[in-house]
Amino acid sequence: MSNDAVNLARKAFETGEGLDLDTRLRRIDAVRRMLLEQTADFTAALSQDLRKHPDESWMTEIGFTCNEVQHTTKNLRKWLAPERASVPLSLLPATAKIVRDPLGVVLVIAPWNYPVQLSLVPVMAALAGGNTVVLKPSELAPATSAALARWIPEYLGEAVQVVEGGVPETTELLKERFDHIFYTGNGQVGKVILRAAAEHLTPVTLELGGKSPVYVDDSVDLTAAAQRIAWGKYLNAGQTCVAPDYVLASPETARKLAEVLPKVIKGLFEKDPRSSSDYGRIVNQRHFGRLTGLLEGAELVTGGDSEAGDLYLAPTVVRAKSTDPVMQEEIFGPILPIVEVPDEAAALAFIKERDKPLALYVFSENKATRRNFMDNTSSGALCFGVPAAHLLVPGLPFGGVGPSGMGAYHGRDSIDVFTHRKAVFDKPLKPDTMKLIYPPFNNLKHQV
Ligand code: NAD
Repeated sequence: MSNDAVNLARKAFETGEGLDLDTRLRRIDAVRRMLLEQTADFTAALSQDLRKHPDESWMTEIGFTCNEVQHTTKNLRKWLAPERASVPLSLLPATAKIVRDPLGVVLVIAPWNYPVQLSLVPVMAALAGGNTVVLKPSELAPATSAALARWIPEYLGEAVQVVEGGVPETTELLKERFDHIFYTGNGQVGKVILRAAAEHLTPVTLELGGKSPVYVDDSVDLTAAAQRIAWGKYLNAGQTCVAPDYVLASPETARKLAEVLPKVIKGLFEKDPRSSSDYGRIVNQRHFGRLTGLLEGAELVTGGDSEAGDLYLAPTVVRAKSTDPVMQEEIFGPILPIVEVPDEAAALAFIKERDKPLALYVFSENKATRRNFMDNTSSGALCFGVPAAHLLVPGLPFGGVGPSGMGAYHGRDSIDVFTHRKAVFDKPLKPDTMKLIYPPFNNLKHQV
């Protein structure tokens, strides 16, 4: 019962045990130990849910989370240390500092596409902040959800309560009072979360998605650029929040990319993605139907073949116009539209007319072009020369802006999410320098 889980997490928080640095370090290390000792089980679950290759599961889920734990372990003492603030002369003698308080009980709601990483990185960060957690994994990755429910109690005890289930269970959970809600998923549900959080004035982090554009110009080696774009796009069969959603290029560059991309895709998946163990599957029939629907009437460059029974959709490239169905929503699957724009200015205008993206990717050797995108666009992240790899840099905040999200985490930013920076001011009663400002007032000269 969701109610019981929240009560248990609350009780575990109120023991005060998690406040101590050593306990926090032990808890976050338990996340790493769990992943290392149970790698086989988590890898099998990820294969069952999404047919991820074990190497891909290591790189993007298990190893990724362990790296985040290591980075946090190394820095936590420093990140939690009180910060001094300077005191204006008029208030001296006094001291001022900022201390980081845990928030309490955190609700983490995770999606299905990276169901280990996107559950455990926030859980680990919340524990590092001294909190206890209720985790709601995604029902759409049921094998991974079951693995998390199986192992978390063993490694983390009462500090992390797992509540499995779908919309009804999450709706029940959201009626409870939490001290923070950390949600990863789509923006429609993000609105549901915000509304529920408003009832208790609970602060919320929303890690959302949207269409992440790519701009390519002819100053780059197009084969090398296509290789990187295809890697980022077809990882996890395109079901990655920071996957390149579509490519903008001039007619000439678009024509060249359409020649190069099919060759590059063949190289990635040994000529036949269907029989390659390196290529994943669409999560379920609903998403499969949505994606194949987007391909109806599309101008295919490569791919397009599919098999419903196997949830297989080939790595696909299409030529598209801005009015095509594939350009109306986040694709979240292995379809890459190439959209022609006359020039760089038109590409910028195209991006700025739409929602601020989670990530924006630019392939150009031209300094002025890079500067132009840096200064004139707003996105969760801006990457030159590679998609998605910025997540591997623990010092970079990961989050969106506007419709692509609210708040950011990873590394030190996670500690900002999961702690409260409490202002502490300490002024001795004597000497009483405050008497200068007590009434009765004396018509002071107002100066700043
Ligand atoms: P999903 O369907 O698994 O939903 C996410 C979570 O929300 C699940 O735990 C689910 O049970 C819960 N949920 C679903 N409907 C709900 C409702 N009506 N009320 C309460 N809870 C509900 O995942 P999804 O939303 O399909 O995930 C894909 C989206 O997430 C894409 O838009 C993608 O870009 C985005 N995403 C963002 C990030 C990021 O870090 N910014 C990472 C991964 C995915």
